[in-house]
This record gives sequence, C-alpha cells and structure tokens, in this order.
Amino acid sequence: MRAYAPRGSRVRGNPRGYHADVSTWVEIGDRVFVRRYEFYDQNIGVVLGDGGVLLVDTRSTHVQAREIAADLRMLTGDPVTVVVDTHGHFDHAFGNHVFRPATIWGQAGCPPFLVATAETRRARVARDEPSLAADLVEVVIDPPDRVFDTTATLDVGGRPVELRFLGRGHTDHDAVISIPDADVVFAGDLIEGGNVPFFNDAYPLDWPDTADALAALVSGIVVPGHGDHAGRTFAVEQATAIRSVADLARRVESGDLGLEDAIALTPYPAFPPEDIRAPLKRALAQLRGEVTQVPSRRPG
Ligand SMILES: [Zn+2]
Repeated sequence: MRAYAPRGSRVRGNPRGYHADVSTWVEIGDRVFVRRYEFYDQNIGVVLGDGGVLLVDTRSTHVQAREIAADLRMLTGDPVTVVVDTHGHFDHAFGNHVFRPATIWGQAGCPPFLVATAETRRARVARDEPSLAADLVEVVIDPPDRVFDTTATLDVGGRPVELRFLGRGHTDHDAVISIPDADVVFAGDLIEGGNVPFFNDAYPLDWPDTADALAALVSGIVVPGHGDHAGRTFAVEQATAIRSVADLARRVESGDLGLEDAIALTPYPAFPPEDIRAPLKRALAQLRGEVTQVPSRRPG
C-alpha cells in the first residue's frame, strides 16, 4: 500500500493511536462496511445491495480513489453504482471522478462549494502535503450531479439509504447517511474521533443543534469522517463538546472571559494549542458576523 503520511501526521495527528482495523474492511452492519485509511485516519463506507454498491466519500486524489476501487474487489465484483459525498472537502470528494459513471450525490451546497474552493484547496494541500502534490495536479474535479436539500431516499440494490441535511455544522452542506436496515449512520465530519473537529469552514453557532440532531438519529453504529466508529454515547459527547465551543465564544464576546482563558477551557485539552484555538476563533468570527458562506449563494 502506498503510504502518504506517517502515523501521527501533523495535519491530523491521532494522539490516541490508530485502530487495529486500519486497512481492513469491517462489517459494521449487514453488508455495510467501513475501511480506515491511514492518510488522515479516514473512514470510507460501503453499502452492498443486490447488484448495487454505494460508496461513502472518495478520498483525496484519483490515486487514493483507485486504492479504494481495488480494495472493493475484496467485497464485491460489482461496480460502484452510487457515491455520496458527505461534503466537499478535498479528502472526501477529490476522488469522485474515478467512480464514474456512478451517480454522485451530495447536499445542494456541495457542488458549488467544491467548484468554488477546488483550485485554492488543490494548491494549499499540495503545499502542506508534498507527497500528494504530483497526484493533485492530475485530479479531475467532478462534483455531485444529483443533489438534495433536506432529505432523499436512495435505493441501493433494493435497500433504502437515507440522506439528510440536519443544518449547518462542519460545513454548510454536510450530508448524513443512514442505512436503517443495518442501524448504521455515516456522519461525515460532523463528528470526529481522535482529533479536534475541523472548524475552518464551520458554522460553530449552528453546529451544536446539528450535532444534537445527528446524535438523535443514532441508535446503533455511527461512523465519523475520521477515527473510530462508535455508538450514540460518542455522538452525544461530540455534540456536547461542540456546544461548549459556542458557549465559550459567547462568554468571550460578552467580556465574561478572556480569549486565552476560554482556550484553556475548550473540551480538547489533549491537543496542540493551535488546533484548540481554531474552533474558538471561528466561533467568535461567526458571532461577529465575519463568516460568509463559501461560495456566497444568491437568494433563489
Ligand atoms: Zn471535512
């Protein structure tokens, strides 16, 4: 397997260590699988139906996506028929093109976000992750061609798969994917195991309610975009942590608390200070009206 990042990557270090199931498919529900890739400790999901194959997220480049396609041969000889991008961040959607002619779904905000941000992200990731630079040049940006606003139900070889938009959170277009007959929820980056959630494109004041709604959906297994899959308790803990970031930011804004004191009180004490600072800064920016949607969307 081609290795793109050392364990403990500086971008997404994993202080708790990697799960024993890295690089194997794990069946977390009836014919629902997750595989953890070491690069960014990322989870890729698969739902197998009768002749239908749904893939959750496509990784950072066509090379990484082809690795998924090769690994899928361990599960099925059928081609991927449906892809769902949980959101438009490069590590979830830059591999899309490899899976055509599959239908690619995303929340309605996903294609414009991907198109608007792709070239700046391509350049920035190439700079931050030199091992990906050559491959990133060749990535064909291929946004979802099917979108939904709040809900959609897909048929994957006779199995219903539900897509939901629960509100702004990690981005303005996070899709949550439920497989009711297997009691599994793929949460994208609305929750994250083993790391501080990524807030740089987030809506920290909206995210707590969205995370609560996500936790309410979970009765069995929930799979975060990165890190260990878990159960409802984990989702509730994540929602509580995200709410505390918003609450701390409000206290700073009201003058009740200094910024450094608030940083010390964030629910991510085991992580580097620069990672902890980002959520609070983004929440303060939203409180001050300085967060604008990327890309800005015209009414109607
Ligand atoms: Zn993300």
